[in-house]
Amino acid sequence: MKILVINAGSSSLKYQLIDMDTKSVLAKGLCERIGIDGSNLQHTCVMKGLDKKKIEKPMKDHGDAIQMVIDALVDPEIGVIGSMDEIGAVGHRVVHGAEEFTESTVITEAVMKALDKCTPLAPLHNPPNIIGINACTKIMPDVPQVAVFDTAFHQTMPPHAFMYALPYECYENDRIRKYGFHGTSHKYVSQKAAEFLGKDAKELKIVTCHLGNGSSISAVDGGKCIDTSMGFTPLDGVPMGTRTGSMDPAVMTYLMNKGMSAKEIDNLVNKKSGVAGVSGVSSDFRDLSAAAEEGNERAKLALDMFAYQVKKFIGAYAAAMGGIDAVVFTAGVGENDAATRKAIVSGLEFLGIKIDDAKNDKRGTVDITADGASVKTLVIPTDEEMMIAIDTERLAKA
Ligand code: AMP
Repeated sequence: MKILVINAGSSSLKYQLIDMDTKSVLAKGLCERIGIDGSNLQHTCVMKGLDKKKIEKPMKDHGDAIQMVIDALVDPEIGVIGSMDEIGAVGHRVVHGAEEFTESTVITEAVMKALDKCTPLAPLHNPPNIIGINACTKIMPDVPQVAVFDTAFHQTMPPHAFMYALPYECYENDRIRKYGFHGTSHKYVSQKAAEFLGKDAKELKIVTCHLGNGSSISAVDGGKCIDTSMGFTPLDGVPMGTRTGSMDPAVMTYLMNKGMSAKEIDNLVNKKSGVAGVSGVSSDFRDLSAAAEEGNERAKLALDMFAYQVKKFIGAYAAAMGGIDAVVFTAGVGENDAATRKAIVSGLEFLGIKIDDAKNDKRGTVDITADGASVKTLVIPTDEEMMIAIDTERLAKA
């Protein structure tokens, strides 16, 4: 079955067409500037090994964008399918499924209504996701559409992990609780880790570290998430590229009392903080490492703060699960930054975690565990699109 994976943003739309029989990406691309001047589609025909092709054409809305994607996919030159009928199902990334969605689901009218209820919790992200679903449903009314949620994998957290110690009414009336994000990635790499180790996920206690521009750590016990570092929003947890991560919430009221507006604080903690804010250099770990090597103390401090907080989560989650069998690193930093991986695990030898420097320098899916260490440390490239396609195929077939 061929699955079209769609990740719709407010003015962009990413896509991949995946052949599930061979587990290979046939084509992929991105529509940019939807609804604004200069709309264009960048399409790569992976199957024929062609270079990326940029097609500039006005796209007034996401419907136009989806139509352009379909046109590119069936194009005799840059396309990979004979007709739209070859698309067996469409999988949509949806950021927030709140408590309404504990797993991926086939989209129906009832599901669309429930999705509307989730929108206040992700006012920037869910609306474009919903627009993408509506556009696809209109163009492909007979093709099953599936929603895959960033939050769903974390819905197995027990109340003592997801509740905040606010008055209970805040949870009941305003649904304020920890939801967690990057769930599709944590699910994918924890399943891949079990496969890699030749074990059933049910037997394993895994800490998955999704470290990229946004970062989150999850405790996956027996294949189920029991805790995760992001919270009500993706601001919580470890410091990120430009986000603070956890800090005393009273900092916010202190700044408000000094005259900052809620909007200004929101911008400060989401866009101006994190390793970029501390270092004053960049949100990119490559720039930070280069600056630190040249003696930039604040870049070094930002890297130290990041590694320290990730280390603390690994220790905390080992405690939460009553043990640990594997640590998995994934995403831009987790997959590529050997020095940061080393900084994170150094000092965790008492837990049985130790990595081998030579193995740590390798790329791809790799076991970087030092000889004799009782906990496996793995690097596993994440593939959220493949996870979306796997869930979509399963549900479409059912
Ligand atoms: P992601 O959000 O998963 O796409 O990760 C993006 C981030 O990964 C970038 O901002 C960089 O900080 C980091 N990154 C990517 N490649 C490297 C690399 N070779 N070394 C260190 N960090 C990297």
